[in-house]
Amino acid sequence: MVQPAADATPELSSASAGPTWFGHPRQLARLFTTEMWERFGFYGMRALLTLYLAEHFLFSDSTTTGLYGGFTALVYLTPLVGGLLADRYLGSKRSVKFGAILMSLGYFTLCFGGQTAKPYAVIDGTRYEVQVDKSTEAKQQYVIDGDKRLAIKGNEDGTVTLTAPDGSVARTVDKGKFEAGGERSHFYTMVMLIALSMVAVGNGFFKPNISTMVGTLYAVGDRRRDAGFTIFYMGINLGSLFSQLLCPWLAVAVGWWAGFGLAALGMLFSWSLIQFDGGRLAGYGEPPQRSGKDRSLMIYALSILAVPVVWFLFVNLMNAPAAQEGSGIVGYLLALPLMGKLLFGTFIIAVPLILIWSARVGTKVEFQMMLAACVLIIFNVVFWTLFEQAGSSLTLFANRNTDLSVFGLFTMTAGQTQFFNAFFIVALAPFFSIMWTALAKRGFEPSIPVKFGVALAGVGLGFLALVWGANYVGADFKVTIWWLALLYLIHSMAELCISPVGLSMITKLSIVRIVGMMMGLWFLSISVAQYVAGMVAQVASVETVGGQVTNLKVSLDTYVGVFWTIGLVSIGIGILLVLLSPVIKKWMHGVQ
Ligand code: GLN
Repeated sequence: MVQPAADATPELSSASAGPTWFGHPRQLARLFTTEMWERFGFYGMRALLTLYLAEHFLFSDSTTTGLYGGFTALVYLTPLVGGLLADRYLGSKRSVKFGAILMSLGYFTLCFGGQTAKPYAVIDGTRYEVQVDKSTEAKQQYVIDGDKRLAIKGNEDGTVTLTAPDGSVARTVDKGKFEAGGERSHFYTMVMLIALSMVAVGNGFFKPNISTMVGTLYAVGDRRRDAGFTIFYMGINLGSLFSQLLCPWLAVAVGWWAGFGLAALGMLFSWSLIQFDGGRLAGYGEPPQRSGKDRSLMIYALSILAVPVVWFLFVNLMNAPAAQEGSGIVGYLLALPLMGKLLFGTFIIAVPLILIWSARVGTKVEFQMMLAACVLIIFNVVFWTLFEQAGSSLTLFANRNTDLSVFGLFTMTAGQTQFFNAFFIVALAPFFSIMWTALAKRGFEPSIPVKFGVALAGVGLGFLALVWGANYVGADFKVTIWWLALLYLIHSMAELCISPVGLSMITKLSIVRIVGMMMGLWFLSISVAQYVAGMVAQVASVETVGGQVTNLKVSLDTYVGVFWTIGLVSIGIGILLVLLSPVIKKWMHGVQ
């Protein structure tokens, strides 16, 4: 999140006039580094999480991506509460400090994962041990049947062939009769879920409030504000760029714990920067002036109690039964885990209610502006749903169907491919800034709805580029890494059309009295998107044994099928939005 969440109060406008850092209030430097190291931790952890769930805990693809989607959904849901508590009681700075501690404890806790789960297979009701040979590129899995070691190969028709060392087929297992699983420690699974809960709660305190603090550095009408947020956005991506390279490297070279450990250290450093700010941030993000009792201790205690509540939501999510076949959309909605019901329910009720309220209390112009905001918020869900495949299905794709060798010089790890996004943002953000300004001067800057539409079409186009690349795979069913890089290049350009517009647009379109609630709705839309992203990634699930796929052609076909569909749908929705843009622009009454 990048945009101003609060206007400067008059007494803080001194920052605008005081000493500068690259032409900006010097406090921006400290907020920049604090956020840079926080994102270093978050994205370092994110680069590992999906693979950790799939290869260490040996969860099925569906459980892995569902849990990942639920976790990231909560990461974007908690800022609703964290922002509110900061505004009312804690102040932004104390909230950021508290969030930093919780997040760093969360990453640190992730270092404790116990032994890798033991893979097994159940064939026709009998359970067999499974071994995975990780020394070769193919990572071949074997069923151990007495003294026989039979290689496992999934077939396109869903059957599984078990081959003896002499190459003879020992057995062909019918479709659906081969079930793979992992025997994992309940204790360490619980530890991991608690760690994720701490990160989700901590992020709620950290993320919205550090952005708010950036907003308070600029007086109302200070024209450097947008540039300040662009610099801040560069900090976000600079931090994530390095950790997405380093943490996955450590995880492979040393162990998962080392990758998560580095994320925890980065987060701890972020905390130390804001905790020991040497008075640099004095007067910024302070608690509101309220008479009455200081409620901070109670809030900290309640937040810690929220950790087991979030943990419960995760457990509920993982154990949710599938909808009964043929039960339709209603059956599907009823079968959703609590978290899904909560997210969709709130979103579906909140949008019309806010609009009805606006129609009743606002003028016609105000109502139309709110309508424009709500329409764009709904389209926003589509963008992030596709974009956020990065951490889940795209990372699994990188792991399985991508040749990760870079010019034959060295090989990247699958988690490291997430770095492309941050890299392209850092490289392209200045050009985009210059481009928008140049276009604006000539009166050609696209309107906000057009930018949103282009972003949606772009995110879809990125997937189609990868699908195109899949035509050129060799016998190993792997695309070269450059196709994935191309997808991220297009996705990053799309991100630059939508993300740096986000909240500032909301603040401008919203009826002032409910601007906080509208920002909450914006966060909620990203949260819903993360959840839907998990569901989309679940559709791209592939059968795995011991965390590895059993047939690379089948997995390639599955990914290509899903990416093709979501690519087309998103381009279609993007075009629709561009077509609607004149109407939406009219409803915006001059807001740019
Ligand atoms: N990459 C940005 C960040 O981490 C934006 C993420 C988002 O809004 N979904 O802040």
